[in-house]
Amino acid sequence: MVPTSPPTGAGRYAPSPSGELHLGNLRTAILAWLFARTTGRAFLLRIDDLDRVRPGAAERQLDDLAAIGIDWDGPVVRQSERLPFYDAAIAELTAAGRTYECFCTRREIQKAASAPHGPMGAYPGTCRHLSDAQRAARRAEGRPAAVRLRADVDDFAIADLLHGRYLGAVDDLVLRRGDGIPAYNLAVVVDDAAQGVDQVVRGDDLLPSTPRQAYLAGLLGLAAPAYAHVPLVLNQEGKRLAKRDGAVSLSDQRALGNTPEDVVAAIADSLGYTARTTAELREVFDATRVPKKPWILESIGLFRPEGCP
Ligand code: GLU
Repeated sequence: MVPTSPPTGAGRYAPSPSGELHLGNLRTAILAWLFARTTGRAFLLRIDDLDRVRPGAAERQLDDLAAIGIDWDGPVVRQSERLPFYDAAIAELTAAGRTYECFCTRREIQKAASAPHGPMGAYPGTCRHLSDAQRAARRAEGRPAAVRLRADVDDFAIADLLHGRYLGAVDDLVLRRGDGIPAYNLAVVVDDAAQGVDQVVRGDDLLPSTPRQAYLAGLLGLAAPAYAHVPLVLNQEGKRLAKRDGAVSLSDQRALGNTPEDVVAAIADSLGYTARTTAELREVFDATRVPKKPWILESIGLFRPEGCP
């Protein structure tokens, strides 16, 4: 047998177990797998289960990924098992004077963030300059405190394989929510670095969060991965795919008589390839030719439920 060199670096797919994966998720997962596998990287799966968990959803997601021919290396990591690592990162930032408690309610933040001059949706820093006495007073009111990053930039640039240089806002992002749960932006940075992930391929709805994550990685002394934010799958109205759009999951498709290979074939077609398995796709995949436009689902006849015009 020809010896193959061990993988260097890793890509990953990190679903939130909030429900079934839809075709957009499956397409993103296939792309992440293809990017990793065609660049000699390992491919890891992580369940982002700090939030929005539906019982049994993670297991079904893993089954669906396996059914469409995605394989992964090593055990599946769950964020809920990694809380001490997030605590350690927040402690490190706090020790460096990089955090503060925030007592704002969601409503207060929305009101303040819509004020002119601030970056869209950015936290305006209301609690950044509270005195010790003010902080104690708010604690005494019983307001739960979130922990925020004390950012010293307003924006940060990242390089994306599809989007090129992307400059995005960085604000005093939440590291730990008021309910004590570590925030996604922190957990993703800590985990990708800990798992040796040096290539992040995910939906382009997350592109605006990426400068925050890359900046945070730098503060923690971690290297930011290479990024590729791939287009989403949209319904005919140009909206993000949702359950109500019809037969959007693998099980819906099975119920219509379509096999996982049929689904892979349709996803391959949306990427400009003729292939029925991920193994075949891997042979022909060219990372420089990933479509930059969203896939509008109803243009693919396969997914039109029987009887629909
Ligand atoms: N768990 C996140 C989601 O499903 C994705 C996280 C990531 O890829 O960074 O939206």
